[in-house]
Amino acid sequence: MDETPWRKKAKEQYLDKVRGGLFGGAVGDALGYPVEFLSEKEIRARYGAAGIQEYERDPRTGLALISDDTQMSLFTANGILYGDTRRNMQGITASPSACVPLAYKDWYFTQAGTVGRPGDDRVSWLLDIPELYHRRAPGNTCMMALASGRTGSVRMPINQSKGCGGIMRVAPLALHYQLRSREWLDMEGAEVAAITHGHPLGYMPAAVLTHIVNIGVYGGCEKGSSLKDAVEEGMETVSRLFCEDRYLPQLQELMEKAVSFADNDRSDSENIRRLGEGWTGEETLAIAVYCCLRYPEDFTAGVIAAVNHSGDSDSTGAVAGNILGAWLGYEKIEEKWKENLELKDVILEMADDLCYGCLISEHSSYKDPDWEQKYIRCQAKR
Ligand SMILES: [Mg+2]
Repeated sequence: MDETPWRKKAKEQYLDKVRGGLFGGAVGDALGYPVEFLSEKEIRARYGAAGIQEYERDPRTGLALISDDTQMSLFTANGILYGDTRRNMQGITASPSACVPLAYKDWYFTQAGTVGRPGDDRVSWLLDIPELYHRRAPGNTCMMALASGRTGSVRMPINQSKGCGGIMRVAPLALHYQLRSREWLDMEGAEVAAITHGHPLGYMPAAVLTHIVNIGVYGGCEKGSSLKDAVEEGMETVSRLFCEDRYLPQLQELMEKAVSFADNDRSDSENIRRLGEGWTGEETLAIAVYCCLRYPEDFTAGVIAAVNHSGDSDSTGAVAGNILGAWLGYEKIEEKWKENLELKDVILEMADDLCYGCLISEHSSYKDPDWEQKYIRCQAKR
């Protein structure tokens, strides 16, 4: 008897949260992208005293554009699912952090090459999506690390970058894996960031984010049921994993501020200014977590707060959107953010794939031609 429909049904209850986490990140990214390089003063001069509140749409396409944060998140997802499928079909097991670099190679190609990467070494069906070939201010560290052909890890860092290019793309890991040890998962979050970012403050925050987002979807926080509990448990776990790291106290101190600021009377812009600008991993995490704790029930208010500052608005917006989306679910995201978002269908398709995972295997008669097309032949479905 084929059990797959039952297994698919079992995952269905998580679909709204998984969609929320991936789509929410794209919303924050697209909202923040037009103001990434503007100071707070410039943002308020251009959009009014409250700052940017709605998508600024591209005049040519009429769409709110996603940036490298969402592009790379999609490739992270593609790499994870390629690896899972290879395991199911060929019995080749590799950790996600071993498969994701193959997909990042494909992403690098979209930024540096021409459409339609040929050859047998592609792993990503996303290469068939022309819109992903646009360059949207890709981070230098990611570009240089991938151009070098080397793959970094926590033990073997390839540079000393603590930019937020590591943390802003790891959420798919947290959205996909259920029933795995959370320490293992947090460490994989750090490893996926360390592929390109070798400084501990570039990869430790990615582990914390992984923890928080995974609880948002699958629950199981031992400290309690609130977002604050999950943040604190994430920090405790990462503090254990990296107990000897000399940069850990810096991350801990900043995160304690982010948590305590959520309850004070100061304005968001004042609080965010005291947390930094979000160009580095630890500041991106702190700003995003602050905004989510400030507005734990309000996706819109959280992402708006996360982008209206002088720093790296699209990345802080993306990470805040990942967290709130995973905790609140896709249904709780206002309709206005779902309209006119670039590649929204691709983002939802990838979210659904992340949720259900690979249901085909060499031992089962269950067939899924679309899945085979995407994750075995590595081509978009027709
Ligand atoms: Mg960006």
